[in-house]
Amino acid sequence: MNLILLGAPGAGKGTLAAYLIEKMGVPSVSTGNILREAIKNNTPLGREAKQFMDAGQLVPDQVVIGMLKDRIAQDDCKNGFILDGFPRTIPQAEALDKIASIDCALSLEVPDEVIEGRMTGRRVCLKCGATYHVKANPPKTPDVCDHCGDRLHVRKDDHMGVVRHRLATFHEQTEPLKDYYGAQGKLKSIDGTQGIQQTEQFATAALGL
Ligand code: ADP
Ligand code: AMP
Repeated sequence: MNLILLGAPGAGKGTLAAYLIEKMGVPSVSTGNILREAIKNNTPLGREAKQFMDAGQLVPDQVVIGMLKDRIAQDDCKNGFILDGFPRTIPQAEALDKIASIDCALSLEVPDEVIEGRMTGRRVCLKCGATYHVKANPPKTPDVCDHCGDRLHVRKDDHMGVVRHRLATFHEQTEPLKDYYGAQGKLKSIDGTQGIQQTEQFATAALGL
């Protein structure tokens, strides 16, 4: 299955993707993680993306579309993939339709007032990409990744001023994708405000897994 996870920044896409990887046996592709890795390695892509990401703006379509095409052309995506954070604009969705057949777009519905607490409590491992939350999903040792032992970080774009800007961008540019996939009969929506396990159950039922 080729699945898209839609939802506001901080809605829980990456957290749900980590669960669905096991359940579906396909990889997840997070454009945000690819870009953060590029920044960490100071590549030309990373240098181009950094200014946009730090300001909570979208990286230009042509940059992320090229990056996504290269990633899903890799062997591990042959039997399906989970997209987390792509597409984020209508031009990205149109470009995706030209290179892959999407089975479902699953939207995690979480209101803005819940998102703020999710993002300010988020801690990430820049080494392995694992995501935690200080209350909802704390690491065993504070600020240390359970998986690889690296130190956890607060993302620069998870500070409140930037979060508000990212939410506005989401409503303006990404939310219209619900109508885009709805018109194709591919949209499914679940309540993303409940706990992590409950969200996993809602997703499992919606996807018929
Ligand atoms: P996204 O990938 O959509 O930006 P994340 O998966 O990184 O969002 O989740 C954002 C934050 O909220 C993380 O700190 C994560 O641990 C936490 N989180 C994710 N899903 C839930 C949930 N259902 N209930 C409570 N907290 C959650
Ligand atoms: P995420 O990890 O999905 O929250 O993404 C973090 C940041 O990376 C976003 O705020 C954007 O600056 C950038 N980004 C990730 N995916 C995309 C995309 N599909 N289109 C444009 N920018 C993106």
